[in-house]
Amino acid sequence: MLNELRRVDKEIYEATKGEVRREQVDIELIASENYTSLAVLEAQGMVMTNKYAEGYPDRRYYGGCEQVDIAERLAIERARRLFGAEHANVQPHCGSSANLAVYLAVLSPGDRIMGMSLDHGGHLSHGHPKNVSAKFFDIARYGVSRETERIDMAEVERIAHESRPKLIVVGASSYPRQIDFAAFAAIARDVGAYLMADIAHIAGPVAAGLHPDPVPHCDFVTTTTHKTLRGPRGGVILCKERYAKAIDSAIFPGLQGGPLMHVIAGKAVAFKEALAPGFKHYQEQILRNAKALAEGLAQRGFRLVTGGTDNHMVIVDLSSRKLSGIDAAHILDRVGVTVNNNQIPYDPLPPTKSSGIRLGAPAMTTRGMKEEDFRDLAGIIAAALDNPQDETLLRQLRNLTLDLADRFPIYPGVLRRLCEQDQRAGAYEVGGE
Ligand SMILES: *Cc1c(COP(=O)(O)O)cnc(C)c1O
Repeated sequence: MLNELRRVDKEIYEATKGEVRREQVDIELIASENYTSLAVLEAQGMVMTNKYAEGYPDRRYYGGCEQVDIAERLAIERARRLFGAEHANVQPHCGSSANLAVYLAVLSPGDRIMGMSLDHGGHLSHGHPKNVSAKFFDIARYGVSRETERIDMAEVERIAHESRPKLIVVGASSYPRQIDFAAFAAIARDVGAYLMADIAHIAGPVAAGLHPDPVPHCDFVTTTTHKTLRGPRGGVILCKERYAKAIDSAIFPGLQGGPLMHVIAGKAVAFKEALAPGFKHYQEQILRNAKALAEGLAQRGFRLVTGGTDNHMVIVDLSSRKLSGIDAAHILDRVGVTVNNNQIPYDPLPPTKSSGIRLGAPAMTTRGMKEEDFRDLAGIIAAALDNPQDETLLRQLRNLTLDLADRFPIYPGVLRRLCEQDQRAGAYEVGGE
């Protein structure tokens, strides 16, 4: 395994092996991350990366596309089946390019997009001033209510009527509650706007039928494939058949050149896994685990944004603990718990510091953790954040997370095999001298 890489490029080999080790020994609570299956890793780690396949199956600009056509057709069929969509484009390199392609398909420069502000939980690609979405389009923004920290549909309706957007974007990167796509659709219809749902974070629960379904209500649905969906890093666009041509031309030749056929093969595998019965159980367990984590933290006096969660993520407000989000992330790093700092709604601190952290259950649920393990994690997180100066305690907590990580292996045997191979290779090198 990785023998050729070690021979050709020791530095990248060591970094890759180091990442295998890091993923094994740390507790991954970044809400947007997951561990994809070995089958997905294998599919995207092979020769399809060699193939140019500009165009779409049976309509390529290159010869020799028979095998990659099989992969892309399967990915498209499975994505459509998984989400009940009329049309799927599986070529977007990432979630952001999926969104940009929708804008390119139906808008002209200067048209107005209405999206959720980043500092209330939206995404950069929904119209952040530094993003291409705001440089080429006019942006109207909505957020969450100060009191409930939830999307206030009356406010969304008011802003939509005032700003008359051509496209409304609904979806979030940092929002722990369900989204009412039907209500957004009614508003979009009222003001004559297209509606795009960006389900990058919640694609898993949506596919499993555990979150209200955007597909019947929206003109376009975009998603990433690497978050709750647990596939390779990439994006997908779903739409009604009447937009199929516009979307396909927006991705190619509009925005991208050759598709990443090895990643598309990985997407096909991930969709197959998501169509299998076990996937729904996995998604149900994610939701139960996120709730257990939220309850554990709330019991220890942490204020949670919106008071809790009904999806896979928990956003913790640390202002009462006199900690910034970035400080908290650094402390948790020291005990082997990986999170990201995140602004909370109406945050007085800038994004680089921020008052909160965002935690998510998808990755550790993949490793087999259940509610009681997430309750233990809440205890570890609270103990670390309440005693950041106590070196002895931090060491003890690190030992606890190492034990936990050990009990829930990911890619079993891979690290051990790499280490054994290194030892053998080392013996050869020494022997040869
Ligand atoms: C993660 C995310 C994206 C972007 O995905 P990338 O693959 O990083 O470009 C887009 N929208 C939302 C809501 C996200 O959470």
